Amino acid sequence: MTTPPLRHPAPQTLPYLDDDAKAALDPYMAQIVGYRKSGLSLNHIIGCPLDCGYCVRHFWGNFDVKIPHLLCSTDQAIDRLTTHEAFRAHVTPIQLFNKATDPFLPGVKPHLFQILHALDARGYTNHVLVITRFHVTEQDMAALEQLNYLRVTLLFTYSGITDDRIEPIAKTDTTIKSIRLAAAHSRRTGVVLYWRPIVPGWNDQPATMAAVLELGRVVDAIVFTGLYHQPENADYLRTLGVDVPYGHDYHRRKTMPRDLDAHVVAAWRQSGISTPLFRKTSCGVAYAHQTPDYNGHWGVRELCDICPATQRQRCADDYREPTTADMDAVLTQLGYQTHYQIEPGHVWTHGLGEQRRYAIQHTLRHQIWELDQPHYLHAHGRSLNGHTADPDQVATLAGVREQFEQAARYEDD
Ligand code: SF4
Repeated sequence: MTTPPLRHPAPQTLPYLDDDAKAALDPYMAQIVGYRKSGLSLNHIIGCPLDCGYCVRHFWGNFDVKIPHLLCSTDQAIDRLTTHEAFRAHVTPIQLFNKATDPFLPGVKPHLFQILHALDARGYTNHVLVITRFHVTEQDMAALEQLNYLRVTLLFTYSGITDDRIEPIAKTDTTIKSIRLAAAHSRRTGVVLYWRPIVPGWNDQPATMAAVLELGRVVDAIVFTGLYHQPENADYLRTLGVDVPYGHDYHRRKTMPRDLDAHVVAAWRQSGISTPLFRKTSCGVAYAHQTPDYNGHWGVRELCDICPATQRQRCADDYREPTTADMDAVLTQLGYQTHYQIEPGHVWTHGLGEQRRYAIQHTLRHQIWELDQPHYLHAHGRSLNGHTADPDQVATLAGVREQFEQAARYEDD
């Protein structure tokens, strides 16, 4: 007989956002279910008091909302998630509250567990990613461990930054304690140290990096990444007197220059810890559950040089280049249209938008790329700040674009 899961208290009353405030929201903030690279993301609670200076909510005018607010009820949110066009039981990776709040804030946590219990009760085995930097308790871990089906990963954002103008939570050891506690009580729950943002001058000093890596000894995996360098959060930090690197060279992707990537990898090697280091979130999550990467990064082999041999084998065994029949089938199934070109390791598409592209990517576990926002060699998923575009690749891109344009002209005739 299965032990019934520990229940957290019924969701407490968080305020609902009123209609006027809802109508004034940036469309991105108003979107309750959206597809992102790491999974189908549910965000019906927005607002956060933690005040991280680099917060992405600066981009959508939500940073000043410190009290979490509901956009709809949690039952409605669950329904929207599971009836989303791209949701597939057991397949679609899910992210909960990863856009505009922290899922372990006291008012948010009961809603987090309501969702987890509802999905688990349906027998779904999907990956579920939960990103936090807040208090995680023994009771939380016991409840997570009693889930039967979902493959939950806790990703603890921890940067080692000590400047509390950048991260007010840095004054406390909240995240450090949570990481240790989660790691000590996890059996089926993945625990990842999400080492981000790594930023020159803020937390790239050898002693700071060594301390983060030391903490990483206890977790399943460490995933590192850089800063979303955008004018809104950079200006905010500059008004606080913080030195912000990269000047006014802003990008839609995170910034992790080549030399900083090399510095991080060297620090990890030098630390001697056995915890694997990953450049991609999905790789760390996949490793924590001994599954192949659901984003098909094995097709971008340069990312895999730091990955453990057992995991490389898992991804290699799982890798299969899609055929045109596969692509046509998934496009039909999801109701999407695009020209596409299959190349080794990835498929070029055009005009799908990120959300549709990721739905295809997770269905096929293969890289699906957009012609207008290309990935470049050695800068996969990162801004070109600190990298140079490979001339051969630029020429290839021009060729693919020409083929797509020809196909479009042919259709118009
Ligand atoms: S082998 Fe490559 S794709 Fe697979 S988990 Fe490791 S880094 Fe990611």
